[in-house]
Amino acid sequence: MAARKLEKLIGFKVKGYDVSLYEGSLLKEVVDNKKAVITDDIIWVLKSYTNKKSLQKLAKTAAELTKAKWGMGAPLMAGNKLVGVIGCGSIKKLTKADAQRFVNFGAQAGQSIERAQTYAKLESAYKEVKHSNKLKDLFIDIMRHDLLNPAGVTKGIAELALSEEDEPDKKEALTMIINNTNKVIDLIENASILAKLESGEDLKFKKMDLRNVLKKSAGEISDLADKKRTKIKVDAKGEFKVMANPLMIVAFSNLIDNAVKYSPHDSEVVIEIKKDGQNWKISVSDEGPGIPDEYKEAVFERFRRVKKGGVKGTGLGLAIVKKIVEHHNGRTWVEDKSGGGSTFIVEIPMAR
Ligand code: ADP
Repeated sequence: MAARKLEKLIGFKVKGYDVSLYEGSLLKEVVDNKKAVITDDIIWVLKSYTNKKSLQKLAKTAAELTKAKWGMGAPLMAGNKLVGVIGCGSIKKLTKADAQRFVNFGAQAGQSIERAQTYAKLESAYKEVKHSNKLKDLFIDIMRHDLLNPAGVTKGIAELALSEEDEPDKKEALTMIINNTNKVIDLIENASILAKLESGEDLKFKKMDLRNVLKKSAGEISDLADKKRTKIKVDAKGEFKVMANPLMIVAFSNLIDNAVKYSPHDSEVVIEIKKDGQNWKISVSDEGPGIPDEYKEAVFERFRRVKKGGVKGTGLGLAIVKKIVEHHNGRTWVEDKSGGGSTFIVEIPMAR
């Protein structure tokens, strides 16, 4: 009420009004020393440390309105950080005890201001993240519908043309189109899975048997395995219950796909499940070139490809495996297989 009356008298809004810090002024003393100050001539102080006519008018009007003679300023502190200053006028003489009470109040008010500022910052960060997640969703939608469908159509037409083509040159060109379109499709599918996993969206879990998961994963690689005459052996008897999302099938098919891809023809990929405390430890071993120690962590990063040996890939497969396993509170890593090759290990908690 008093503020509104004052604003009416002086003709401008007090809230949001900028005040410069004058050398030697009371306000400057509070800011520099982070201590309370008291004056017995508040009007003189207010008038002397500003060259703004409007502020001088404010000081005069405030004094007439309140009849204040004494004045006091204190810092608004959030811990050791100064977040503002507070001042008041008084008709009665102000004492050191009043100043101490003002300082205590300033410490509490400072913390509240700091909390409110932090909250405002968090809120704006949250809005930004939400906005960028929306963009990501939009991008995934574009990838899945507007890019994947035409790529699928191109592949279909090229396959049809290839089946009716006899000329070797044209057959070669069509095969190249099909192979490259496959690469594009792989990249779109992998990138959209990874974007979904990284969006922070929670996955839904249901009770599954790891043996069935592995069977389905291996089934997805059977064409490639047949082509390379690779034997995929699942060495696991009994039940291996986990709480999992169907994406777990994608994780293991990526590992088995790599094991077949990077191994020579006529080799063997062995999958084992073992109990380790409260976890299942699933290993996928191959007879490929192995992974040098210095790349054992890096291969799980996006787009990181090491010794490719002419093998085609997107460099996203292992990043997806790692993310899926992390969503299941598990971990994954790679070790050397004795006698050559790699063993990729996934550790996930057992279902209770
Ligand atoms: P991509 O296979 O598409 O290149 P991945 O993320 O699946 O991408 O693998 C990353 C890299 O890790 C591969 O490029 C390859 O160098 C290496 N790698 C993955 N699996 C194996 C494996 N079983 N044996 C040898 N190297 C592998």
